[in-house]
Amino acid sequence: VTGTTCHDLVIIGDGPAGLALGAAAVDVGLDVVVVGDDRPWLATYGTWADDVPGFEPAFAASSPIDVVTLDRRRLGRAYATFDHTALRLLIDRAPRHLGRMTSVQHHDDHATVVLADGERVRGRLVVDAAGARVRPGAEVAAQTAYGLVFDHRPDVVDGDAAVLMDWRSPGARWRDDPTFLYVIPLGGGRWLVEETSLARARPMPHDELRARLASRLGDDLTAQAEAVELVHIPMRSGVPDRSSLTIGFGAAARYVHPATGYSVAASLRAAPRVATAVRESLSAKTATSDPRSRHERVWEAVWPSSQRDARALHDYGLDALLRLPAADVQAFFDAFFALPEALWSSYLRVDTDASTVSRVMTQVFRSVPWSVRRRLATGSPLPLLRLLR
Ligand SMILES: Cc1cc2nc3c(=O)[nH]c(=O)nc-3n(C[C@H](O)[C@H](O)[C@H](O)COP(=O)(O)OP(=O)(O)OC[C@H]3O[C@@H](n4cnc5c(N)ncnc54)[C@H](O)[C@@H]3O)c2cc1C
Repeated sequence: VTGTTCHDLVIIGDGPAGLALGAAAVDVGLDVVVVGDDRPWLATYGTWADDVPGFEPAFAASSPIDVVTLDRRRLGRAYATFDHTALRLLIDRAPRHLGRMTSVQHHDDHATVVLADGERVRGRLVVDAAGARVRPGAEVAAQTAYGLVFDHRPDVVDGDAAVLMDWRSPGARWRDDPTFLYVIPLGGGRWLVEETSLARARPMPHDELRARLASRLGDDLTAQAEAVELVHIPMRSGVPDRSSLTIGFGAAARYVHPATGYSVAASLRAAPRVATAVRESLSAKTATSDPRSRHERVWEAVWPSSQRDARALHDYGLDALLRLPAADVQAFFDAFFALPEALWSSYLRVDTDASTVSRVMTQVFRSVPWSVRRRLATGSPLPLLRLLR
């Protein structure tokens, strides 16, 4: 796959996004190679089961799920966690080139991916799916969480299902600064119990989350846990610069949902759409035209305009949410999950459209108490007024 060969597509990164796009590229008949360093996937990947049709064989566990806001509510959708090995079996289908990219050089009709060992891999198009890298020293907002994996469901965690968000306060000293508990089965009787902070400009430190989790569980059970999961998900607002000749995909292209921090389902869903756009952009007819239009076409599949508008609203929604004190956050999510399932489900997808996001925001705004509305509207009321038009 090296030397003088020029592939149709070179994908940098062998996480869920890179492999999913690689598999989709194989499916549409492209000559593709995935460049990656074959690092193990360590994070627990959760998803709504119905968001990833066809991926059921890759689930380690699937469960009903509750949300605890002002009261406990069972949501109507199943929630699943991926088994990494099974997921890889489904999507690790493109040829691989082991290595680490150090730079990408763009030429008139192709690009060269330069690897740390000096090797070069050439492609007519290059996609960066190497994850949400953050420049050293850059201050980027992040969702953080401290999780413990147990070989059983801890008795102190009430209920019997997964819990998407339990917004009850972990203790009196944290009453004004909300974080939530997330509880999911991992299969084989194992459970992950995690204290999570929504995205913050100054990410909540893991020690702080650990103390909160200990308070919920009655003790710091870290020593009794099978494993500790330290979550730090960089959250950059907006969409990437689409004039870049290296096209982004997955977390590298900000597929991370502002409210949930999730991106895996979004990448799995987008991969066939983007692979098709790559094939079309390289077709003889298009290839003779301006090379820049090739990239534009693929970027448009990565972030279609309706989804870009939705992202702007999602970002606004997160800003508004982060202005609320704890009690209001509970009222907010209570109103959110009382909406018709199709509406809130769509809001929680990266690949949604602006009109749906705006409908959800309007309906939540109208159903929360006046005190919450006032606080939601503080700060920057103009976008909200535009929304409510
Ligand atoms: C602990 C944790 C839990 C999470 N839980 C969830 C969840 O439940 N559900 C969900 O949807 N999302 C979750 N996320 C967020 C997000 O979906 C993941 O970060 C996901 O891994 C992003 O997938 P990706 O393929 O885009 O990027 P990555 O998974 O980051 O994959 C990028 C790959 O590229 C490789 N790479 C990086 N640089 C180079 C280079 N220069 N050359 C070659 N290869 C390179 C890396 O080694 C890596 O394997 C979680 C994140 C964390 C950290």
